[in-house]
Amino acid sequence: MAYNFLLFFLVFIITPVSSGRPLLNTSLPSLPFQFPETNNLCKDTYCIKTASTDYGRLVQEIPFGVLQPSSVSDIVKLVKSSYDSPIPFTIATRGNGHSVRGQAMAKDGVVIDMAALRTVNVINGIRVNGNSSSGFYADVGGEQLWIDVLQTSLLHGLAPVSWTDYLYLTVGGTLSNAGISGQTSFHGPQISNVLEMDVITGKGELVTCSKDINPDLFYAVLGGLGQFGIITRARIVLNKAPTRVKWFQIIYEDFSKFTKDQEHLISINGFDYVEGSLITKQSPAGNFFSPADASMINSLASNKGILYSLEAVKYYDDQSLNTIDEVLQTIFNELSFNSGFVFSKDAPIVDFLNRVRGEEVYLESLGLWDVPHPWLVLLVPKSRIMDFNQAVLVNIIQKQSLSAGPFIVYPFNRNKWDERMSVVIPEDEEDMFYVVNLLNSAGGTVDPAVIDKQNDDILQYCQQNGINVKEYLPHYTKKEEWIKHFGKKWNVFKQRKYQFDPKMILSPGHRIFNFE
Ligand code: FAD
Repeated sequence: MAYNFLLFFLVFIITPVSSGRPLLNTSLPSLPFQFPETNNLCKDTYCIKTASTDYGRLVQEIPFGVLQPSSVSDIVKLVKSSYDSPIPFTIATRGNGHSVRGQAMAKDGVVIDMAALRTVNVINGIRVNGNSSSGFYADVGGEQLWIDVLQTSLLHGLAPVSWTDYLYLTVGGTLSNAGISGQTSFHGPQISNVLEMDVITGKGELVTCSKDINPDLFYAVLGGLGQFGIITRARIVLNKAPTRVKWFQIIYEDFSKFTKDQEHLISINGFDYVEGSLITKQSPAGNFFSPADASMINSLASNKGILYSLEAVKYYDDQSLNTIDEVLQTIFNELSFNSGFVFSKDAPIVDFLNRVRGEEVYLESLGLWDVPHPWLVLLVPKSRIMDFNQAVLVNIIQKQSLSAGPFIVYPFNRNKWDERMSVVIPEDEEDMFYVVNLLNSAGGTVDPAVIDKQNDDILQYCQQNGINVKEYLPHYTKKEEWIKHFGKKWNVFKQRKYQFDPKMILSPGHRIFNFE
């Protein structure tokens, strides 16, 4: 999805949240436990301030210090010293700080700044290996960014198969959630494309795990919200890299036709990526479209109130160049959009995969990237997506028009998600479920509390109407809410926590086991 965060700022003229905001109170707590003697535990204002905030700009938690590791053994020592301490201290791993609700923070504890490891692991952080008969893979440090995994594997003509929309996220950070995007229906989330990991458990033990070696730890860590261990290496599946993409946006007035076509496209072996998004007056067609097309689409959206844009991508290279148009025509013949509503682009693979970066750089140059992000991401059962559209997307998102989003909606095939992994998806047995990304920005004239109230209303509507949604990038403040979130996986999740992190040291920012 082209995120079009820029549009938010064009529609809602804002001032950067940092201006005029009080600085963090970074006075350090005095603590009853012994921290390890180490040169790389940073306690200066800059370290503390950075580790106390994240992309969400909604939560601040002050740690005691920030470990800037220069090796995996620095992290082992830190965790071991907490585990061996009579009063253990909490430890959070900060990948690239792109959580939205303090998930990588540790109040009064230690935050591990994985960016420090990235700077020392420039050469060895990503190693490509394997062969054509047994398959290719990359051994990647948990601290590495997906953009670097892409660039390095492309040097070998290879690439990972499963992505996130945005690539400046760490391997450890996305594997702790799931790692989803338009490729997920075809290859599974990123956690379904990991062959092996090295993990430092909450006991300070460095353990290798895979589906055959220490499988309990392996499945616990995948989608495990950092609760069971710190990922220091992940072996990621690679395939032959495509060179270019045919990239489409197809506009629908009718949600039922839009979702029927999405579901069809993820059921066949046609496209390589399928997503979709809302177009409304407040969330207009973005820079994928020519100015003339955007203007036509936006005036239709103004008339109709809401349109749906199905985004689909087909990879190709020199070998498939001569046949691709014919293949695409066959697929298009099976869809139910109105003629004249397909818009296309041809782009290098990197431009497509790294599509959100341009917007980030531009917004950053204006000082407008670092604003509050009260996001809500829901996994919705397929059988309720029509109800959800009317009640939430139309009656709440479109009619209230609090922000420009982006608002992204697309389905997944359930069979690409392994039940043994910690990640939580809707519990019904339907073959598909939807992800609905309500990626609101706030700041300036938009109060994050107002958007949070809207988010609460959406969750309440789902609860009252029996729509059994699950949150992706979940955030709760009460233990009972976490128990409900995990549902039938709770007992196993809890038991694995006692097994791998019995002193509840790791990842306190989620507040699953660490309540005050
Ligand atoms: P952090 O936010 O730093 O950490 C996230 C969690 O993982 C924390 O609990 C942390 O303690 C833990 N963690 C971090 N590193 C490790 C490690 N090595 N071992 C164990 N635990 C660790 N997500 C998607 O799935 N698909 C998307 O398309 C997508 N797009 C996004 C676009 C933007 C602009 C942003 C800001 C986020 C997006 N995300 C997406 C969400 C993203 O996956 C999460 O923010 C995730 O937290 C990764 O960010 P990070 O690497 O900065 O990790």
